[in-house]
Parts: sequence; C-alpha cells; structure tokens
Amino acid sequence: MSLVVQKYGGTSVANIDKIASVARKVIRTREAGNDVVVVLSAMAGETDRLINMAQKAADEPDAREYDSLISTGEQVTVTLLAIMLNGMGCPAKSFLGFQVRVLTDQAFKKARILQVETTAIRDELKKGTVVVVAGFQGVDRENNVTTLGRGGSDTSAVALAAALKADVCDIYSDVDGVYTTDPNICSRARRMDRITYDEMLEMARAGAKVLQPRAVELAKKYNVPVYVKSSFTDEGGTLVTKEERDMEKEVVSGVTYDRDQAKITVVHVPDRPGVAARLFTPLSEHNIVVDMIIQNASIDGHTDLTFTVSRKDISEATRIISEVLKDVDAEKMEVDDNVAKVSIIGVGMISHSGVAAKMFATLAKEGINIMMISTSEIKVSCVVEAKYTELAVTVLHDAFGLEKES
Ligand code: ADP
Ligand code: ASP
Ligand code: MG
Repeated sequence: MSLVVQKYGGTSVANIDKIASVARKVIRTREAGNDVVVVLSAMAGETDRLINMAQKAADEPDAREYDSLISTGEQVTVTLLAIMLNGMGCPAKSFLGFQVRVLTDQAFKKARILQVETTAIRDELKKGTVVVVAGFQGVDRENNVTTLGRGGSDTSAVALAAALKADVCDIYSDVDGVYTTDPNICSRARRMDRITYDEMLEMARAGAKVLQPRAVELAKKYNVPVYVKSSFTDEGGTLVTKEERDMEKEVVSGVTYDRDQAKITVVHVPDRPGVAARLFTPLSEHNIVVDMIIQNASIDGHTDLTFTVSRKDISEATRIISEVLKDVDAEKMEVDDNVAKVSIIGVGMISHSGVAAKMFATLAKEGINIMMISTSEIKVSCVVEAKYTELAVTVLHDAFGLEKES
C-alpha cells in the first residue's frame, strides 16, 4: 500500500462538475489500494476575486485580515470535495491549515512553512478516510491565518508529502507536464518526461508557473518524487527528480518568462560604501525580494542603481525607497512596470561557452532591446520590454533547438 498526495489546481476544481471528476479520480486511486491525501486550490479566479475585494476595501489592507480573507477560497473547495466523496460512499474529511496545523512564520502573504503536524491526518488515514487539505494556508504561533504566496498550494502539497513521507506527490494541473516553455504561448513547446530538481527550480524561479519555486525547493530537500500531470487526461506527465547518470544534459532545456516584474531605478546616488545597504536593508526587512540588481559605472562619484521587484511589491517598495532617497542623497527614483524577464535554463550550460552570447544575438536579431542581464551557472535572464515577451520566448525556443521532435 502506498501513500499518495494529490494536489489539484484551480482549473481542476473550477466548478462542481470538475470537483466531481476529481472525486472520481481520488476514489480510483483509493480503490487501487492507496492511502490518499488530497490538497486543493481555490476555484480558478477565486483568489484573484478575493484580492480585488480586499484592494477595494482599503488602499493598504491590513495584512492579517488580508490573509484570512484570501485563504477562504480553499475552504470552499475542500469542503465541497469532502461532501461529494462522502456522498459517493467514500469516507472523507476536510482540514483547513490550522486544523492540520501547518505551522508557518508570520510573514503574511508569503509565509514559510516551519512544521507540519501529521498526527490528525495519520489517525484519519488509519480509519480509511481520504484526507482533503486546504492548500495555500497555514497558521502562525499566535493562531493567525497565513498564506504561502500565489501558487502556494503546490508548496502545501509537497510539504505534506515530505512530512507524511508519502511515496509520491502528484500535482494535477491544466497542462499534462512540464514543457520546454509555456505551451500556452509557444505551440512548439515539447513535454519533458523527466526534469531534475535543479532545473525545475530555476524554471520555477524564472516564472514557469507550473510549480511554485518553494514546492520544488522542498521536494529537493526532502527528496519527494513529484509528478506533474493533467487533471483531464491520463496521458503524459513529467517526473521531477534527482539527476540520474544517464539523464541528458541539454545545454539549454527550457525557456521561461516572468511578467510579474517591475524595474526601479534610483538616479544619481553617491557612489560610496554603505549606500546599497541603506537601500536594500529596509526592503528585505519588509520581506520584499529584490531579483536583479545593476549599478552603472560611476561618473563624478555618482551612479544609477537599478533593480527589479515583483509587481505586487511595487507600491510598498517605492514607499520605502522614497523614504531613504534623501538619506542617501539620491536625486530621484524612476519606476517601470512595463517589463518582463525572459530566461534560458539548462544544467549543460556549466560546461558550454557562448550560450549567453547566442541569447543576446537572438534577441538583437528581432530588435529586442535588453535592459538588464543576470546569469548563474545554469541560467541567463534578460529584462525586456513587456510587449516582446512572447516573441522573445518563441525565438529563443527555436534558436536553442527545443522544438517538438517530429
Ligand atoms: P494550477 O492552477 O493547476 O496550479 P497554474 O496556472 O499555476 O496551474 O500552472 C499551470 C500553468 O503554467 C499552465 O497553464 C501554463 O500556462 C503555465 N506554464 C508556464 N511555463 C510552463 C512550462 N514550462 N510547462 C508547463 N506549463 C507552464
Ligand atoms: N489559490 C491560490 C492562488 O491562486 C493558491 C494556488 O492556487 O496554489 O494563488
Ligand atoms: Mg499553480
């Protein structure tokens, strides 16, 4: 007998009919002799709807109340599924984050999981009950409801799989696996049968929505085998796993894009020790993740400092930076949220030269201007004007030969 954790995303539970087909899938898995823990997202669009309402209710909604509100979409889907399963003769019980006790830190909107208690779930599994857990939510030490960041139910699922030492964690979505790039914007994208944790992590961090980066981090840390599968067909699937000796080391294995980017430039800052720390320390104290940073060459002892943050952090980040502008003697701040980050990823890059140059040449040929560049051992990212996102992804996908084998 195996213990299977299955996570279904928003499109898979978008309405009653879809929840019914999830129920049938769960019952089939149980009838095959497995213990099943199901993790659900909210119905597609529901979390957006809740966020919109919060933003209408106040300019800067109180973070504690905001998390309590936006976590409610998951309460609807888990209870509906449990009701349905019970109605179909399959014993099931729903759990919210605090009932499992998914303990997190206090960073509302992007809380990190500290510990997952398993006693209550194990007791139910022993009785033959299917356990249905609300994804995306946890509880802090003071019993406040917290949420794990957009796409966070992937992380809930992997954390539960790790804590329960499950045999597998299946992530069901509207795509039948992980592709060389987003199949919804590039028709030549190819599904991969396997991908390493490291490559998946880079792809997820660089914007491939199919898995939340922290889910992949956890899967890698606890060695949880993760299968990305389609809710709607039994075909396909991608296994995210450790590197194997015979695994092909493609130079570039994937192309990603991230539209959730905003660029902030602090203009004419004195080029002296301590300035960067003065700018970035308050951002990190507010849990704002700064992605790329470039500093121009200094002229007359002054320089421009440009960095990117997530769009959702833009108002907080600009407020913080405007407070330190005077402190650091900077002239002004400029904000551009009409940008996107396009990245190429591949473990094979470590041992190949000329990969970044090929990326730049490919973009140049299309007249796409590169505003910022960052590189790591297995990734090159460029910030470009948002309107070029799809074109950039498609030409890079072609240039690195990732198209369908036919
Ligand atoms: P869910 O609601 O099931 O969590 P998401 O919308 O979060 O689903 O993630 C699935 C989406 O990820 C797909 O619809 C697809 O557009 C997008 N995506 C981006 N990059 C990739 C990729 N490389 N492979 C597969 N899907 C991708
Ligand atoms: N419902 C949450 C979101 O829309 C979590 C998730 O879908 O994973 O971000
Ligand atoms: Mg998702």
